[in-house]
Amino acid sequence: MPAAVEFRKVSRHFGPASAPVKAVDAVDLSIAEGAFFAMLGPSGSGKTTCLRLISGFESPTAGEICIFGENVSNTPPHLRNVNTVFQDYALFPHMNVRDNVAYGLMVKGMAKAQRYARAEEMLALVHLDAYGSRKPGQLSGGQRQRVALARALVNEPKVLLLDEPLGALDLKLREAMQDELKSLQQRLGITFVFVTHDQHEALSMADSLAVFNDGKIAQIGTPAEVYARPKTRFVADFVGSSNVLPPALTQSLGGPAKWSSLRPESLHLDAAGPLQGTVTALRYLGAGHRITLSSQGHDIAAILPTGTPLPDPGSEARFAFGPDALHIMDEA
Ligand code: ATP
Repeated sequence: MPAAVEFRKVSRHFGPASAPVKAVDAVDLSIAEGAFFAMLGPSGSGKTTCLRLISGFESPTAGEICIFGENVSNTPPHLRNVNTVFQDYALFPHMNVRDNVAYGLMVKGMAKAQRYARAEEMLALVHLDAYGSRKPGQLSGGQRQRVALARALVNEPKVLLLDEPLGALDLKLREAMQDELKSLQQRLGITFVFVTHDQHEALSMADSLAVFNDGKIAQIGTPAEVYARPKTRFVADFVGSSNVLPPALTQSLGGPAKWSSLRPESLHLDAAGPLQGTVTALRYLGAGHRITLSSQGHDIAAILPTGTPLPDPGSEARFAFGPDALHIMDEA
């Protein structure tokens, strides 16, 4: 079965060939049909450009893009069976919700009764059946977001692209919409490709994710793989709040003389533990405490659950960790 989306050495460079901005640089990528795939990375790392390459709003300067096995590198956006939900939703303010959703079908020439029936179906899917006559300005942010989703889904795309679709929402609504998006994707079985710079969002929603850095994919895998076994310091730093340990410190903890990562929540107090240092800070987080330990000149964070004993600030403390917690990275 062909992948829903495949990149073969795809590049998108901007500016003069003598000094190009390598927005996307020789990226290989394969997104399985039915996946909820996240593209995660800092600002400017190439996520949006990748999404625009899939939608066809951007053309590759090199390489090949396939959608369900068909080379679409030179296919215009409207012939790709792909739809995008933008961060600002891009709804038409003068049209009511029903017309906004039915718009794509009108462009395709579908009769009014039929397209309204389809629009109502889509509005029911996103729990907005009672809102068809309202204008976008009369809706909350979360409701507008769902209209944008309905408007994209009405075209029955095989791949739905979402560019930071929850970026404009407050935290509570964002979390509610994360659950809704996830369940909608599971019910419809459409391939979702989701751009975010929020690691929690990517880890909790995606079945598979790519971490972008500087126009390249630093790592690709399941959230659990990327979180627990970051390949590089960049990934360890960006995904989660890992301690990144230099070779000497890794070695003193019983590892090889290589860079390693150690998750703060994998540490626990243990008088015989290998990690020793001075407690320089202690912060209450709600669900636990964050302890900063200074060890061999490095700050190491540990997160201890509420209710467990805490070391005193300024004291010497020792920590231990489980057998798989110290992850050695490939990087030199
Ligand atoms: P953000 O999270 O801020 O949206 P991003 O990871 O989506 O960032 P892109 O928008 O893909 O990043 O941009 C990648 C790089 O390419 C950036 O350095 C950006 O300035 C550059 N870039 C993007 N579009 C253009 C363009 N049309 N012309 C020149 N440079 C561009």
